[in-house]
Amino acid sequence: MAGLVAVPVVSLRPRKAQPFFNRHPWVFAGAIAKVAGNPQAGDEVVVKSHEGKFVGRGLFNPVSKIRVRLYSWNEEEALNDEFWSEKIGNAIQLRERHVVRPSTDSYRVVFSESDGVSGLTVDRYGEWLMVQLTSLALSLRRECLFDVLAERLKPKGIWLRTEKGIAEAEGLELMDGLVRGVEPPRPMTIQENGLRFGVDLAEGQKTGAFLDQRDNRRAAAAYCQGAKMLDLFSYCGGFGVTAAALGGAASVTCVDSSQPALDAGLRNAEVNAVADRMTFVRSDAFKFLEEAISRSEQFDVVVLDPPKMARRQAGIEQALRGYHSLNVLAASVLKPGGILVTCSCSGRVSRSDFEMMLAQTGTSIRRSIKVLETRGPAADHPTSPNCPESDYLKCFICAID
Ligand code: SAH
Repeated sequence: MAGLVAVPVVSLRPRKAQPFFNRHPWVFAGAIAKVAGNPQAGDEVVVKSHEGKFVGRGLFNPVSKIRVRLYSWNEEEALNDEFWSEKIGNAIQLRERHVVRPSTDSYRVVFSESDGVSGLTVDRYGEWLMVQLTSLALSLRRECLFDVLAERLKPKGIWLRTEKGIAEAEGLELMDGLVRGVEPPRPMTIQENGLRFGVDLAEGQKTGAFLDQRDNRRAAAAYCQGAKMLDLFSYCGGFGVTAAALGGAASVTCVDSSQPALDAGLRNAEVNAVADRMTFVRSDAFKFLEEAISRSEQFDVVVLDPPKMARRQAGIEQALRGYHSLNVLAASVLKPGGILVTCSCSGRVSRSDFEMMLAQTGTSIRRSIKVLETRGPAADHPTSPNCPESDYLKCFICAID
């Protein structure tokens, strides 16, 4: 028929369709039998099972291992500007209805797979937005995405950043920097749990701050009254400053390998009037722990928040060994009855793997570990049960005899 362009069809191999009927959005190249209709990078495609049954509608990327990202399971639904606008609108509305608190002005507005838009992550930092694009197809639609965000949220500016490694994995060519409005101050100041933190959107790690740990910082602080606290992998002192300012910690030592992060941590301590109770140490966390053990220094509360350890499926075993030795060392500097707040932000390390690692830690140190709280990211970072990888952040608060 004139005017109607057939959507290219991606056919799956036998017995490969189940995860996608179950709405997992990543169709890897290995699951695909045939591509018909010659789709180009970023084009819309229909995914069908081996028997020709409709599975979903997605966007194609010949470069990425994730050959198709699925966005709709409705055969009639086209992935047009209206579709993206509605998805983003839903994500914003969810936060506005259930997540935003007066004591916090920075939160994740759109979270990729969890909000049904695999490849788009948007953080709100005060009056600015930080956008991360991790899919080539969405990057080709970026002007539409920026327009929707600008119109719905009216930020002073939108900043674009690309995570390390993504450009190569997806074949992206993006220039990081300002894409709408005016530049944010560097650093800018955000509010979290009623405290003030400096954030550098251009140079800070991740998207500037680790907003996902907001509630865990407050939860950890509740165990810190009068405590001697150790904040390992502290970055700009998120856990430590909160423990001192909200939790009444008597002393806090923040340890990180990055000097700029520690300098920012000291400024955060000063702004929140807790610098007199805080010390910032530049060190490798493993080395700091070994030295603390050799001088018999002990703490009431230890926070462990290491960077992602498993980037690929193949790295899981190694990551678990890394977590195990780190947790053994951390537990070794805990006073009897102390609190260990232990985190993992590796999406590939499952909650049950992490629990198993904790069990082995208890066995190795011959002390009993009691899990008091099993936590995840704050509610502005929802997880999708259809995409287990989105359950990336684990935070266990444990008492160790
Ligand atoms: N706890 C922080 C976030 C931690 S991100 C918060 O609440 O905001 C991980 C941090 O680990 C980064 O700041 C990074 O600089 C630091 N890091 C990475 N490897 C390290 C190592 N071997 N020893 C100490 N710090 C390390």
